[in-house]
Amino acid sequence: MRVFITGGAGFIGSHLADACIARGDAVTILDNMSTGSAKNIAHMQGKIEIHEGDIRDQALVEKLVEQSDIVFHMAAALGVKNIMEHTLESIDRNFNGSEIVLHAVTKYNKRLIIASTSEIYGKNPNQPLHEESDRLVGAPQKIRWTYADAKALEEAVAHTLHKTHGLKVTTVRFFNTVGPRQTGQYGMVVPRFIQSALNNEDITIYDDGSQSRVFCHVKDAVRAVIKLSESDLTIGDYFNVGGVGEITIKELATKVIERTNSTSSIRYIPYSEAYPAGFEDMQRRVPDISKIRHAIDWQPQISLNEIIDSISASSA
Ligand code: UDP
Repeated sequence: MRVFITGGAGFIGSHLADACIARGDAVTILDNMSTGSAKNIAHMQGKIEIHEGDIRDQALVEKLVEQSDIVFHMAAALGVKNIMEHTLESIDRNFNGSEIVLHAVTKYNKRLIIASTSEIYGKNPNQPLHEESDRLVGAPQKIRWTYADAKALEEAVAHTLHKTHGLKVTTVRFFNTVGPRQTGQYGMVVPRFIQSALNNEDITIYDDGSQSRVFCHVKDAVRAVIKLSESDLTIGDYFNVGGVGEITIKELATKVIERTNSTSSIRYIPYSEAYPAGFEDMQRRVPDISKIRHAIDWQPQISLNEIIDSISASSA
């Protein structure tokens, strides 16, 4: 297979590239090295075709789409902190950039997988979240939700192109995906906690730490993406991809300290100190993964303890 991965130097994109290389695919990636990094793909040099560029470059995107059999659209501006600090640029990349990819893939009639996010469900309190759950986001001035809005619109355009132009797209909604190569720079809690623990520095919990999440190892998530892409039955459909085992952020901090034998203490700060104005959190985010289990017999296999160990081993 000739595989084209947008965002191939990013966290999930680079793990996906590894899986495709292992499968024997000819892999091409396009990345503007914004949230991705050369370090993530250093070990692939010579094995893949690397283009440093932007998904908003229509001519380049069309050329790379045309020469591929399947496109994995993983490029995005993400991370709550990043989105809030670079709101306009993020909206532009996530919505306008994605539109260019979607139209190019439609034009050349290729198979497409798009990366969406659990963020689109917003702060819907009815958990677990299944694929038909409502979106519940705050007022537009709460700029955290611009990421959810841009990704939801991208999904809607993809879905419409499927209905009107036969676009062969499958949508994957990732829930708190974590693992080696993820940076804490854009806000993600697990790499931040592990980094602080390894340095024996304070771990900073925002608010009281009673908010909860479910984490999924990137290797499990990539296995889901590959399996979804191998079936024609998933075309036109959309799937949650997430882990099992809900944990509060406070419990997560304690677990990270224990497993890394750290002497770190836990420090609590209000959201207003952690994020710019326009932030609001969701208290819980739990994926319902029964749809993907039934569709392709996928379920996560890597536990949170193993996740923490694999990240600390790769950071050491
Ligand atoms: N969080 C925290 N300390 C940090 C980073 C994040 O307490 O250093 C909290 C954050 O406010 C949220 C949860 O951890 O309640 C998960 O945050 P993340 O940005 O990783 O993902 P998301 O909010 O998108 O689930």
